[in-house]
Amino acid sequence: MTESGPLDNMLAQMEDAREYVDIDDGIYERLQSPERTLSVSLPVRMDDGTVEVFEAYRCQFDSARGPYKGGIRYHPTVSQEEVSALAGWMTWKTALVDLPFGGAKGGIVCNPKELSDTEIEQLTRRYTEGIRRMIGPDTDIPAPDMNTDPRTMAWIMDTYSVYQGYAVPEVVTGKPTEIGGTDGRVEATGRGVAIITEETFEYFDTDVRNADVAIQGFGNVGSVTARLLDERGANVVAVSDVTGAIYDPDGLDVDDVLDYVAGNDGRLEGYDAGSISNDDLLTLDVDALIPAAIEDVITADVAERLEADVVVEAANGPTTFDAANVLEEREIPVVPDILANAGGVIVSYLEWVQNSQQYSWELEEVHRDLEARITSAFDETLAAYEEKQIPTLRTAAYTIALERTASAHEYRGLFP
Ligand code: NAD
Repeated sequence: MTESGPLDNMLAQMEDAREYVDIDDGIYERLQSPERTLSVSLPVRMDDGTVEVFEAYRCQFDSARGPYKGGIRYHPTVSQEEVSALAGWMTWKTALVDLPFGGAKGGIVCNPKELSDTEIEQLTRRYTEGIRRMIGPDTDIPAPDMNTDPRTMAWIMDTYSVYQGYAVPEVVTGKPTEIGGTDGRVEATGRGVAIITEETFEYFDTDVRNADVAIQGFGNVGSVTARLLDERGANVVAVSDVTGAIYDPDGLDVDDVLDYVAGNDGRLEGYDAGSISNDDLLTLDVDALIPAAIEDVITADVAERLEADVVVEAANGPTTFDAANVLEEREIPVVPDILANAGGVIVSYLEWVQNSQQYSWELEEVHRDLEARITSAFDETLAAYEEKQIPTLRTAAYTIALERTASAHEYRGLFP
């Protein structure tokens, strides 16, 4: 049996929460489909002089609570369905952590590993031209996601600003600090994941010191999560990337792995440690499994064999709907993506606020604000979970997000 894709997964997650919240039918129907999606074809002149056309999207899911907000990913598997699901998850995430934003997502169908820096810059600028009529500091504010980074955000900011005729730093977040980025943004998602993992351990009476952790994905989110959990005393026993997984039951030397990857074109390949398959990593007997790569990696089959005591979803949508049901039956708790990885959008919000004020904060203030907001969302999720006797943490988180978004629609009413 093939399992359903990310959009069906997201819609089913909403449906699970519906019985615990009182939402008007018409509003619920509005919340099930994105407000708009733009599809663009991007002709790019390649280094060899030929022209290649790339497909790309920007999906704006919901804006009842404020401007659309969401990242942009460059990946061969990007599709309209995937960006719609990711835009929906952004909507629930911004509502759960109570930011004055809606949700959006964008993506370009490409394999950045096969493109030169010049080609990626051309592609980014052409994409910005393609979507510039729908983005803006008060309408829709992109940010980094898979395979995009501060460099990419700088190109988007520059292209948008050239059209406007003046610098508009607040059109994107996750920028280099030299052009209005905030200290702490690059590591914000991983920092949030580490905070939530520690809170989760505390809730389940597990001591973070010496807790065994396995992390799938060693990019921005996975590598920062590994470093910060290592600093808190956890044993990071396994990490992986597209090139494979490394494993040491006594705990990896995370600083050494980070140094190796920094000097090896961002890849774990060739690191001197025990090697296991990516599938084996997902089924290790650890205190916490942290998927931090792509969606749909924990399938029902993986869920049957999963040995971790808890799953903390750093990636967006890593657990399929069928797998979530298996984990629920097996009583393995899952801390949902919309809570666990919300650190990125929280600090994006702080960057946008600083840009709007034309003022910048100290790193400590950013860290403090992030920690306060994400732990407050964690506490609210637990309160809903316990008080309403909701079966899973994900459904508890969704009840809060759906209630807040529906309430905004209720007050705003229906135009015309
Ligand atoms: P990234 O591109 O920096 O890293 C992705 C990592 O996953 C890389 O190490 C890559 O090799 C690895 N990977 C890809 N496919 C894999 C596979 N099949 N098996 C094992 N490893 C694989 O991306 P990122 O920014 O770290 O994002 C990771 C996840 O976190 C995504 O789901 C993203 O949507 C989510 N996320 C990111 C942010 C952010 O601020 N960057 C915020 C919230 C959520």
